[in-house]
Amino acid sequence: MEAKLHLPELFGSQVFNEWTMKERLSSASYGAWKKCVTEGTSLDISTANEIAEAMKQWAVEKGATHYTHWFQPMTGVTAEKHDSFITSAGGGKIIMEFSGRELVRGEPDASSFPSGGLRATFEARGYTAWDPTSFAFIKEDSLCIPTIFCSYSGHALDKKTPLLRSMDEVSRQAIRILRLFGDNETKRVTAQVGPEQEYFLIDKELFRQRKDLQMTGRTLFGAKPPRGQELEDHYFGAIKPRVAAYMKDLDETLWALGVLSKTKHNEVAPSQHEMAPIYSDANTACDHNQIAMEMMKKVADRHGLVCLLHEKPFAGVNGSGKHDNWSLSTDTGRNLFKPGSTPSQNARFLLFLSAFIKGVDDYQDFLRTTVATAGNDHRLGAQEAPPAVLSIFLGDELNAVVDSIIHDTHYTDAEKKMLKVGVDVLPAIRQDNTDRNRTSPMAFTGNKFEFRMPGSSLSVSGPNIALNTIMAEELEQFADELEQAEDFQSALHQLVKKTLTEHQRILFNGNGYDDAWLLEAEKRGLCNLKSAADALPAYIAPKNIRLCVKHGIYTEAEVRARYEIHVENYTAVVSIEAKTMIDMIRHDILPAVSKYTAELARRAADKADAGLPYQYEAVTAREAAELTDRLMEQCRVLINDLEDMPAGPVEAMRYCHDTLLPDMAQARNSADALEVLTAAEYWPMPVYSQLLFSV
Ligand code: ADP
Ligand code: MG
Repeated sequence: MEAKLHLPELFGSQVFNEWTMKERLSSASYGAWKKCVTEGTSLDISTANEIAEAMKQWAVEKGATHYTHWFQPMTGVTAEKHDSFITSAGGGKIIMEFSGRELVRGEPDASSFPSGGLRATFEARGYTAWDPTSFAFIKEDSLCIPTIFCSYSGHALDKKTPLLRSMDEVSRQAIRILRLFGDNETKRVTAQVGPEQEYFLIDKELFRQRKDLQMTGRTLFGAKPPRGQELEDHYFGAIKPRVAAYMKDLDETLWALGVLSKTKHNEVAPSQHEMAPIYSDANTACDHNQIAMEMMKKVADRHGLVCLLHEKPFAGVNGSGKHDNWSLSTDTGRNLFKPGSTPSQNARFLLFLSAFIKGVDDYQDFLRTTVATAGNDHRLGAQEAPPAVLSIFLGDELNAVVDSIIHDTHYTDAEKKMLKVGVDVLPAIRQDNTDRNRTSPMAFTGNKFEFRMPGSSLSVSGPNIALNTIMAEELEQFADELEQAEDFQSALHQLVKKTLTEHQRILFNGNGYDDAWLLEAEKRGLCNLKSAADALPAYIAPKNIRLCVKHGIYTEAEVRARYEIHVENYTAVVSIEAKTMIDMIRHDILPAVSKYTAELARRAADKADAGLPYQYEAVTAREAAELTDRLMEQCRVLINDLEDMPAGPVEAMRYCHDTLLPDMAQARNSADALEVLTAAEYWPMPVYSQLLFSV
């Protein structure tokens, strides 16, 4: 019989977490670590040595042989370089060693990670430094130590450093506001994040037969199958045994790594699923989401499956997103986006809400850039994801409150009262469960905001850096003003009212898919940055650079470097897709169709010889031959255009968007028409109905 799983024992069994530290460290060292995490103090080398020794002992007991500084370079995935614990003890023996110095700092040969020119070639090295706020864990016999990654000149080369900076900054500004409300206890305000992760599962054998999936993560060809998601029977549907086995394995793997995997269900498209963890601090959430994505792929492999994290693996069916649920909470356990039951709690809530609304309005373009990737372009604005225009959904109840503050009107018919911030109590605001249509890019869902624009393969670091920083900026402005006020209550009311009035345009409760909304949004002056190529330049808009530099999130050089990396990544992705397409057309599709056409022609001739009618063969062969020539020509155009790629990075990105993608769309049209014509046994790859219903 299979051993019964004891979840509480399994959970976190591969994590050097707080309990393990408490158990294995001297109380002085545990205290020093705790102080370092909660108050940002530094650790001395003797404490680091003791922690390193305890970590090593624990890891070796669990079978680990190596350790690695685990970091998140600008590639969007994680990086690790493994060193074994062994040291020669002489006489042909070894001992297992790990020092505080090795724990705290590492020097990976980092010259091949993208740096956007931040690391001059003469100083190619970067260093990694331990992030004591994220627990170390064991993965495949290696002790993984979460670290930040910087260049020797101190520039951030990763996604964690700016996230930590932004978390500190929003905490600092939020505390200024809390002090104004008489809160003298809160020491730290923490951004809380719960990223919902969507993914597709397909059969590994079929995946192996699709070069496009292997090279680019998405299908570059594929006619619409007879059945897609029309029946809407997959969402929350019963989970098939093979998928259930995968999900169970995934849960257990994630639980052992301390990831709070909570819900799992089928998504809208066939073969599409979702995993959502319980939210945690933004830093841990981001680390855990990276671990989750990695494990989703690894566990799939064990089950003869492949997990696709691309935003749009299949045209015509829903793509995958990563809803980023975000809020702020105090170390005393208060969620600052939760409406309360007293006038003071509500005033605080309305102030944070106003700051958020103003921030999203002021920095729409900045938020948009954080989700701008070549992959997400296929999803945003399509029927399953929010449009590329940012707006905020508040739901009817909260909207009524906002309206009454703006217009000094009654907020409930029953009470006939003007709502005075800081004096009155809000009507109960329930979580809006009617908002299931996913059309709003930023929805208030009772006690948090759900940012729905991020794509499924994205690190959640970028969007959360932006949310934290924007919030820090607006809270700082508010604090500057309110700290000077003579009458806090009336200044507060005025500030909330003024802010909501000035930023109404960003509020929208209607259907985001409606074309009328896009026109309306334009009238309101909202940004509509349709593609990543349109959006990315906003990364270096002066106001956005100013925001980041002012709050110490990035230096100007860091912003520009990141911009460069994103731009180059866009071009790289589209170029790889174009080359893969050319390869498949020339080596697979054209030869296969040619063979099929020749066979049809031969059969037509045979039939003619036998005095039989041969319309089917002749007509099909003609259509196929015409399409074949068209596809060959379109492929030639794509090849030539690819060769003409401009040298400048920004010009190349635009060119990919304006020239290569339309070329590819044309070629795909012809190829998909050929797929429909061609006999199944001749078509050189599995088609959509096989891929989507393979598991
Ligand atoms: P839905 O599908 O309705 O969006 P899910 O349960 O799938 O709901 O996902 C909600 C996510 O939001 C979960 O990861 C949950 O832990 C997270 N969440 C809940 N409350 C908060 C909060 N206060 N701050 C941040 N995230 C939160
Ligand atoms: Mg959601």
